[in-house]
Amino acid sequence: MSSSVGLIIPCKAAVAWEAGKPLVMEQVEVAPPQALEVRIQIKYTSLCHTDLYFWEAKGQTPLFPRIFGHEASGIVESVGEGVNVFQVGDHVLPVFTGECGECRHCKSEESNMCDLLRINTDRGFMLNDGKSRFSIDGQPIHHFLGTSTFSEYTVVHSGSLAKINPLAPLDKVCVLSCGISTGLGSTLNVAKPKQGSTVAIFGLGAVGLAAAEGARIAGASRIIGIDLNPKRFDEAKKFGVTEFLNPKDQDRPIQEVIAEMTDGGVDRSIECTGNINAMISAFECVHDGWGVAVLVGVPNKEAVFMTKPINLLSERTLKGSFFGNYKPRTDLPSVIEMYMNKKLDVDKFITHRVPFSEINKAFDLMLKGEGLRCVIDMEK
Ligand code: NAD
Ligand code: ZN
Ligand code: ZN
Repeated sequence: MSSSVGLIIPCKAAVAWEAGKPLVMEQVEVAPPQALEVRIQIKYTSLCHTDLYFWEAKGQTPLFPRIFGHEASGIVESVGEGVNVFQVGDHVLPVFTGECGECRHCKSEESNMCDLLRINTDRGFMLNDGKSRFSIDGQPIHHFLGTSTFSEYTVVHSGSLAKINPLAPLDKVCVLSCGISTGLGSTLNVAKPKQGSTVAIFGLGAVGLAAAEGARIAGASRIIGIDLNPKRFDEAKKFGVTEFLNPKDQDRPIQEVIAEMTDGGVDRSIECTGNINAMISAFECVHDGWGVAVLVGVPNKEAVFMTKPINLLSERTLKGSFFGNYKPRTDLPSVIEMYMNKKLDVDKFITHRVPFSEINKAFDLMLKGEGLRCVIDMEK
């Protein structure tokens, strides 16, 4: 048993005090886990664009001070009352959308939208008592996505935690806790392209390129990558993307260009940008009769999706997905196994590494559109 069990742990956390301002390294106090909660020591965390959106708080609800972070790996430090499935020392990945195991969604084969623990970007406190487990001199600090991994220790609901193979390297599989699993599952579980299909991917960040990996694994014949950032194109070749399009280089809507290139439209498209215009293009570029478009990007709160109903009547399908439809506790261990069996390469998604003390560099890189995932080492 660890000596900290049942005690408050003072530790370092990167706190966002204001929207868009650099995070500040603070000494925070992390309370022990309550019933059905688990306290974990974060080993590695990485930055996902969803952290950046809520930190910028443009078109999202601002909630500060807050500890961001949701893509991470860690080790169980202690468990609260009623937690049977986790033990001290277990290797775990926290996940932004949970699985209570009891509700209609958790019992449905089709859904991962748990009634109790589904993603809630506006909740800043724990479900048990509506309070924070983080404080600085008695001032509560808001949680983010029930995970708040930009802290050496954090408390999460046990339903938002996946136990993983202890042999999996935590400095790598941390990226499977959000972006890579999301992109991969959006293709394999939701878009489900058939062998030989044409697939368009909007947004060639880590999520989009993981969606491209899914298309490659499914045997797509053409994978068309669309991004506004020309720097993305070289990187995308390593992920099986066969053709590139930059909407800025075209004098007509990108969906028209794609329809012309593919004899009427692609079989599947996956949108991984968060931009409403890209979402509309992603839908309108699929072939009538059978085309399926999947929205993955997190949009501005006020964004409205507009298209002519005839586009749907002509037998196109529009879908959306969180976490690639994976149930975090049930399905994430199998994604880890894909990595362990070398069916899925995660190393090529990790383009940068920084020590925790330099976490703001990860934000700078993402703002500049450089690299894919920046892994933050909590022990440095
Ligand atoms: P990223 O910043 O690494 O990549 C996004 C890419 O989209 C960038 O290369 C950018 O240049 C490109 N882009 C932006 N607007 C575009 C446009 N109009 N047309 C074409 N390309 C455009 O981000 P990421 O971490 O890969 O995340 C991608 C999106 O997925 C974000 O919106 C993120 O919030 C969301 N996300 C959703 C889930 C989910 O479960 N649904 C999970 C993780 C991330
Ligand atoms: Zn994410
Ligand atoms: Zn549930």
